[in-house]
Amino acid sequence: MKSKARICIPVCVRRADELASAVQRAAEEADMIELRLDYLSEIELSRAGQAIASALQLIDQPIILTLRPAEYGGARPIGAEDRLYFRLQTDLLRPHQDDFWDLELDLALLLQKRAKEGNDVAGMNLCDWDRTICSYHDFAGVPADLEKIYESMAQTESRILKLAVQADDALDCLSIFQLLDRAQHEGREMIAIAMGQAGVMTRILGPSRGSFLTYGSVDDESATAPGQLTACELRDVYRIDNIDRQTQITGLIGRPVAHSISPHIHNAALAKANFNAVFIPFEVQDVNAFIKRMVRPSSREIDWELRGLSVTAPHKSAVIGGLNWIDAAAREIGAVNTIVVEGDELHGYNTDAIGFITPLKQRQQSLAGLRCAVIGAGGAARAVVWALKAEGAIATVFARDEAKAEMLAQQFGVAYKPLSNATFRDSDVVINATPLGTRGKAEHETPATKEQLGEVRLAYDLVYNPFETRFLSDARAAGCETIAGLEMLMAQAVEQFKLWTGKHPNVEVMRAAAKRRLGMN
Ligand code: NAP
Repeated sequence: MKSKARICIPVCVRRADELASAVQRAAEEADMIELRLDYLSEIELSRAGQAIASALQLIDQPIILTLRPAEYGGARPIGAEDRLYFRLQTDLLRPHQDDFWDLELDLALLLQKRAKEGNDVAGMNLCDWDRTICSYHDFAGVPADLEKIYESMAQTESRILKLAVQADDALDCLSIFQLLDRAQHEGREMIAIAMGQAGVMTRILGPSRGSFLTYGSVDDESATAPGQLTACELRDVYRIDNIDRQTQITGLIGRPVAHSISPHIHNAALAKANFNAVFIPFEVQDVNAFIKRMVRPSSREIDWELRGLSVTAPHKSAVIGGLNWIDAAAREIGAVNTIVVEGDELHGYNTDAIGFITPLKQRQQSLAGLRCAVIGAGGAARAVVWALKAEGAIATVFARDEAKAEMLAQQFGVAYKPLSNATFRDSDVVINATPLGTRGKAEHETPATKEQLGEVRLAYDLVYNPFETRFLSDARAAGCETIAGLEMLMAQAVEQFKLWTGKHPNVEVMRAAAKRRLGMN
């Protein structure tokens, strides 16, 4: 086995003659390989026997043979008789290997019933239950009768039980972890997964909590279920081999979180420092329910060593009500982006403000009297304005929504102006605190053109993906010095790391991880 925590890579090809090379490619990363034969058409499957045998000769890893019908998330409709016929081709598994069949619950129950009735279905060898994974999939959500489904599966003689449900909220993972605990308690081997971005934690923590394996893909394009990570990410970013029940958990709560590069930055720093700790993205809908049921030690329904959380949109303000103590900066800004679990207390901080100001102070020691135009009136702008004021700089808010600009300006006692037709002639620094320029549909947009930036000394973009935004390249063309959003992201992450671990992280390792994730090297 390549790793302590088993990673199984599903292979899904449309033609039997593609099996061998796909299996070999998967074998470079996998501890187990699942052949998803439902991806072969009926005709391809009928003549695939030799291709399967040849492919299996190329690898040492155990395999799982799966012919999943569409109603359980498979690639095509397959009738019960065809599934049964396929399952009876027992010579497809290698005799001296720990190979498995994946058999959906309905078929497992049918076979069991027939066997019990003495109808040994066309020679079905009962010993084969030792090589059977009895599976149940729900792509619509978490079934209300999950425990009952588990009990039906446990009634079959299958060696391993597999349950995969769809998670829409991180809280949906609780039932998966509870099921893994139950299976362990009852001495059953189990694979339990919550699919979807909200279920990612089950893929990362599952093996350390008793899951027989976790599924990974060869690359981002070949993921076979929503939320699936690559085998490389599981092993190298999340270090699932090192995770145990003592591992300190940190992570990001927000919605969405899939785009975030924070897991790459923090996990690289945790690995470098050799901490038994991991940073996980948690897609959370109801932040207060999450705090109660998964975070606060006295009320949470999961036994884990949660150390702290990073908080992103849309929860930075809403989370405040669930905390015991907030530091002065976070209270005045009205947003918490970092939580630390201290005993049974939850403490809130805002590291965006210091993260913003640190790169600026590296260029200019005193910011007193510096004239700063802040574009945007959202959460980040609030932290920026607060930090500038604290340093004695003179901030002016520019926003497309004048009412929002006025509200923010009044709260912090600064000036505001409309964004349309703005000139920044009177500004030393222009700060983009809007998402304009972010990878995707706003990528080629900028809140200030080269012409508008002509007399400005420094342009500071909070957007970090891409590293080089149009705002920054226009500013440079206008002769301005620039600060990229990645600098703020790194500086605020350094402060978070210090709050959770009490240690200073290796910043170069964090920066390299961020750049790798942004495709810069
Ligand atoms: P937010 O609360 O949603 O606020 C966004 C602000 O930008 C609002 O004032 C919004 O105006 C304005 N805006 C949006 N689209 C606009 C457009 N087309 N033209 C003009 N103004 C527009 O977001 P946030 O949390 O403040 O974040 C802002 C940006 O900063 C994001 O890109 C975020 O990723 C980045 N950020 C970076 C870091 C870092 O460490 N580098 C940290 C925090 C945030 P309306 O209210 O009128 O929509």
